[in-house]
Amino acid sequence: MDKETFKQYGYELVDWIADYFTDVEQYPVKSTAKPGEIKKKLPGNPPREGEGVDTIMNDFKEILLPGITHWQHPSWFAYFPANNSPPSVLAELLTAGLGVQCMVWQTSPAAAELEEVVMDWLRDMIGLPSGMSGVIQDTASTATLCALLTAREVCTGFETNVKGFRKPLRVYASREAHSSVEKGVKAAGYGRENLFYISTDESFAMIPSLLEEAVIKDKEKGFQPTCVVASLGTTSTTAVDPLEAIAEICRRHGLWLHVDAAYAGTAALLEENRDMLRGMEQADSFVFNPHKWMLTNFDCSAYFVKDPELLVRTFDISPEYLKTSFDEQVKNYRDWGVQLGRRFRALKLWFVIRSYGVKGLQNMVREHLRLAQLFKGWLEEEDHFQLMAPVPFSLVCFRYNDGVSSDEHLNKYNQELLERINATGRVFLSHTSIKGRYVLRMSIGQRTTEERHVRQAWELIRREADRL
Ligand SMILES: *Cc1c(COP(=O)(O)O)cnc(C)c1O
Repeated sequence: MDKETFKQYGYELVDWIADYFTDVEQYPVKSTAKPGEIKKKLPGNPPREGEGVDTIMNDFKEILLPGITHWQHPSWFAYFPANNSPPSVLAELLTAGLGVQCMVWQTSPAAAELEEVVMDWLRDMIGLPSGMSGVIQDTASTATLCALLTAREVCTGFETNVKGFRKPLRVYASREAHSSVEKGVKAAGYGRENLFYISTDESFAMIPSLLEEAVIKDKEKGFQPTCVVASLGTTSTTAVDPLEAIAEICRRHGLWLHVDAAYAGTAALLEENRDMLRGMEQADSFVFNPHKWMLTNFDCSAYFVKDPELLVRTFDISPEYLKTSFDEQVKNYRDWGVQLGRRFRALKLWFVIRSYGVKGLQNMVREHLRLAQLFKGWLEEEDHFQLMAPVPFSLVCFRYNDGVSSDEHLNKYNQELLERINATGRVFLSHTSIKGRYVLRMSIGQRTTEERHVRQAWELIRREADRL
């Protein structure tokens, strides 16, 4: 592709994306494609001769777009958000254009140093202890895996890296913890049977006394308690584990404390939401995702550690071909995680934070929290709807409940209700199961979501419930 062609299609593509940001509201939120439908329309073999961008773009619009579920839709209320923003997209384009590999400092000094600076900003923006150091990972799952690997090494005096496992090491998390904890436990070699789930209280938060009991029992059995993963904002209901009490237990028993705040970390941009961080001075690692609720397009996960030395010792490799004369003076992020090659993700974070300012990001969070409380209020006024969990952030868990039907019947009913709501294409909500009950999740966090969208969703939910 020559320069003029690149420019022509580049401008066209930017126009297309700019229009998409506003036109996205006209698409059905959730793709209505059937399994295999898109694949059937794509040729099984690659073209022998190169094709023009026009042809490719046409196929993108005709074939692929109908198979896209529109995460940036203002009526996206499913799962958690993965919101993006114009400045983030611009920076992502620059990142692609530069095409740099940020594995060590000298492969792009600006990338390494900008990463250090924006991660320090981010740490201070959400009120983490000032001594923590940050590194950008692709996802929270990877960050949690890094925490589990570091915990494993610290607990065994860096022996497991050399000799492998000698005795069972135990990991603890609440029953409501994200599935990435189990995945990490498997990948880090602990073995799934060594992940012990702690029961939760009525707000779905870990019960610390049960954690301590489990740790003591495991010690008696000759297991080595190694790591606790505390969740601030669980995926199912955004429950908040009592960090301070958990941290105290970790300190008493010499356990690594990893904090998973993948979604809710963003809420700590507001000082009034920082109570949940009490105890953080004693935590060893912390992760939250700017790619969920902080206008930074996927992927960008912020991982913070108290002692980077331990992280680097876990991952450090020094083959001759990667050695440089600056290694003593600079940060080589290849040793701060699993991957060697790294994208220049700090750039989009920098664009986002500078474009919106701390204030702009705080305003976004404040508005989403307000909308969630508004929705919760409507729900509570309605006889036949039931709030199913506390609403500390911007997720509301609820179900239809006529007050007479059995749970079994209500489960079927609510499942059908959700299918009908989503089939309208006008909103997309997801579900969870709470103590065996089928529950709808209304998660508010899109950049362009306004009160009218939340109101429309509520009217639609009520209408579909009436019809059923
Ligand atoms: C979304 C989520 C994760 C996983 O995030 P990825 O970045 O997709 O790996 C982990 N923990 C919690 C609590 C989450 O909500």
